[in-house]
Amino acid sequence: AIQLRGVGKTFGSNTVLKGVDLDIERSERVCVIGPSGSGKSTLLRCMVFLETYDEGEIYVEGRLLGYSISDGTRKKDSEVQTANVRRNVGMVFQQFNLWPHMTALGNVIAALRIVKGMTRAEAEKIGREALETVGLAHKADAYPDRLSGGQQQRVAIARALAMNPSILLFDEPTSALDPELVGEVLEVMRQLASQGMTMVVVTHEMGFAAEVADRVIFMDGGSIVEAGPPQRLFSKPESPRLAQFLDTWK
Ligand code: ATP
Ligand code: MG
Repeated sequence: AIQLRGVGKTFGSNTVLKGVDLDIERSERVCVIGPSGSGKSTLLRCMVFLETYDEGEIYVEGRLLGYSISDGTRKKDSEVQTANVRRNVGMVFQQFNLWPHMTALGNVIAALRIVKGMTRAEAEKIGREALETVGLAHKADAYPDRLSGGQQQRVAIARALAMNPSILLFDEPTSALDPELVGEVLEVMRQLASQGMTMVVVTHEMGFAAEVADRVIFMDGGSIVEAGPPQRLFSKPESPRLAQFLDTWK
């Protein structure tokens, strides 16, 4: 579904991603863990081209993201070309960033109307289905300030789903929530996973990672230090850095 080949990213003199290689298969569930500043968010942001990458290649469904290569040199694609490739990748952020002046349904269908140019009727049909998927069909007409944080995040997930992405990226989707609201969001994500959605989830929820992930990736200092099935990774970390990291979560 998505391939990273030697992806590098530098901010000024700070090299944040150091030649990351990663292959995400269709329907695979990958959780990314690692200390603050290790490059997890930057990695995800590069995968939707919210951030440019300076080295390597990212292929989404076989197409190079953000760049074209001719005569061995890399040239940045036009916005339109990039948007076409990026369309396959949805992202859910820690901060849900719903429009306060739009209803839940309005938020979910805005991009369908603007980006995909759908009629209101077409968009609403898809939007209501997406809200149904996250268990919020009955809140379609509610404004964000009338929704709990957990419900707002579920609307944000519906908004991503409505675009029909082939891969969904989550960057700490429950970190901004009160503890009692975390469960409902993880439940929606579990359900998406069981339906075969390809997912990459940056999370500190080790229980969720252990239960849902096919593979867990540990990042430190801009590199993937260790990766493997959660059972193995959590019980028998090979690298001292991962062992130490896991200790802090016990
Ligand atoms: P956290 O767990 O705290 O979310 P993270 O693993 O997601 O951390 P990133 O947000 O990817 O880490 O940041 C990695 C490094 O890149 C940090 O040193 C950060 O300061 C730096 N960085 C991130 N975004 C920018 C930016 N837009 N400009 C400059 N430096 C940045
Ligand atoms: Mg982050």
